[in-house]
Amino acid sequence: PLDSSLEPGSRTVTGACFSRVQPQTLPKPTFVAVSEAALALLGLNTEDVLRDPHGAEYLSGSRVIPGCEPAAHCYCGHQFGHFAGQLGDGAVCYLGEVEVEAGAQQNSNPISTSPCGRWEIQVKGAGLTPYSRQSDGRKVLRSSIREFLCSEAMFALGIPTTRAGSLVTSDLYVQRDAFYSGNPRPERCSVVLRIAPTFIRFGSFEIFHPVDDFTGRHGPSVGRTDIGAQLLDYVIETFYPEIQRRHLDRQERNASFFREVTVRTAKLVALWQSVGFCHGVLNTDNMSILGLTIDYGPFGFMDRFDPEFVSNASDKKGRYSYEAQPYVCRWNLGCLAEALGAELQSAKAGVILDEFMTIYEDCYLDIMRRKLGLLRQQEPEDVELVADLLKTMHITGADFTNTFRLLSAVSCPAGEQKDSVVELIVEQCASLEELKHVARKTRQENCELEMILSMAETNPGMFNMVANQPEVTKQLEKIGRMKELLIINEVELKIQQRDHWQRWVKQYRRRLAHECDEASDPDAVEKERVRSMNSTNPAVVLRNYIAQNAIEAAERGDFSEVQQLLKVLENPYSVSPNLECPVWSAGSGSDRADGNS
Ligand code: AMP
Ligand code: MG
Ligand code: MG
Repeated sequence: PLDSSLEPGSRTVTGACFSRVQPQTLPKPTFVAVSEAALALLGLNTEDVLRDPHGAEYLSGSRVIPGCEPAAHCYCGHQFGHFAGQLGDGAVCYLGEVEVEAGAQQNSNPISTSPCGRWEIQVKGAGLTPYSRQSDGRKVLRSSIREFLCSEAMFALGIPTTRAGSLVTSDLYVQRDAFYSGNPRPERCSVVLRIAPTFIRFGSFEIFHPVDDFTGRHGPSVGRTDIGAQLLDYVIETFYPEIQRRHLDRQERNASFFREVTVRTAKLVALWQSVGFCHGVLNTDNMSILGLTIDYGPFGFMDRFDPEFVSNASDKKGRYSYEAQPYVCRWNLGCLAEALGAELQSAKAGVILDEFMTIYEDCYLDIMRRKLGLLRQQEPEDVELVADLLKTMHITGADFTNTFRLLSAVSCPAGEQKDSVVELIVEQCASLEELKHVARKTRQENCELEMILSMAETNPGMFNMVANQPEVTKQLEKIGRMKELLIINEVELKIQQRDHWQRWVKQYRRRLAHECDEASDPDAVEKERVRSMNSTNPAVVLRNYIAQNAIEAAERGDFSEVQQLLKVLENPYSVSPNLECPVWSAGSGSDRADGNS
């Protein structure tokens, strides 16, 4: 039935998880790039695909693959903390599922196998669906390149993710508003072929959400516990077969399932943190039920380490900042628990949710220890070593990716290159000009800071009352830092940075010495550490401006940069001559270029 509260063309879909749709055709669909590895999951050979006169039509949904029964999935979600009602596949079309050839999955990477032996395929940007609301269901080259490259980059980093098989552009143009495009102009409609065991999300279960106190909205299938149970059974039987097998009791099975989703989500966010990845839109509809990274929009990899990094320019309050990601994921799991309703006892869900931060922290410490090359017994000081490293990176404005990559050159015990490592790290720390630029921007954008500053000037009594609150203390630290930046010069800044790094490297080297304790062959231990660190700390990640360069070339009709970049990102641990150096300049990395839509 049509719901008059929705825009014409969209409709409320009650009592169903999907609607049948047809992807819309495109004039002159053309391949921009393909991922050989991702297409191979479907049993497709890249050369065959590129040679096929209808290849780009099929993989963009412009021509429907024989046997497909295309559909759009109906889901809901909490967006920026509030229940948003029906959302659904507004720009995505499910084409069907591809069965994996028997034997093709054996002994391979667990993140490149499907638990059910089938892959769902979707075309993203394939046109209108009942869930398109006020938009057109299309995606432009800019956002499609970002999703295509980042999906494959994350996979190469060993981070669970949906995959991207191909990227097709066309001669159909749409115009996006200034917020998304930076510069409104006709842009080419483009389509990414996405691949995952399933694209079902937390939000898929929220179609059963009762009326929300704050927004007054409800899920379109509220009360249909029959469908909720069916969806839950499908998900557990298909994607968590070992849980299905282990339990006879339904409530226990469901609790095991929720625990497993919690564990996977905690591991996923720990991996994000470990590479400086910020998703940007962690709404519940962008949370995979399999713990995959899903829906690449205004994501960003950090350049200089900043725990308050926000990659999404529309996220003014920083709800989805880097440091908030673990807490937000936990909050989202709470929404999932609620959506499961009577299928999950809330006391059980509560116990599991209470474990989230511990699971996350254990995972995070495991990964960070590996990044530091600490391969033997964990020591109590390891937590502090990691925290001090991040603090040092933050104050000195060090590049997150490059710093970790440089650390494998620290030798144990102290070797001759002792100071050269520190010099290399200090060399890529922020300049005074950059730090001042950031400080100015922070002050402009942060009304709390402005308020505290004016309070200190006009009402010292009031100021003293609030000065000890943790939030205010944090802001005061920033003020102190800004004042300091005004009085020091470039030379003094470098001396400070060197001091910070010398102190931390000393601490690190002391800790590394324990790794060699009692080792019969300390040299072998050292070699193993360096090897391990260089295959854990990537030399390249998809920095915003790198993606931006490839996008601009592609918009001029040169797709070779996207293709080359894909090759580099597929091998993130081998140093590439073009992209290894710390390339950052004021305004290049963090300004608007996050292009959603
Ligand atoms: P997102 O937060 O980008 O993952 O998407 C939020 C909602 O907007 C989802 O329901 C999407 O399907 C929908 N959406 C995003 N882009 C488009 C588009 N170009 N046309 C129609 N719907 C869209
Ligand atoms: Mg989404
Ligand atoms: Mg999006």
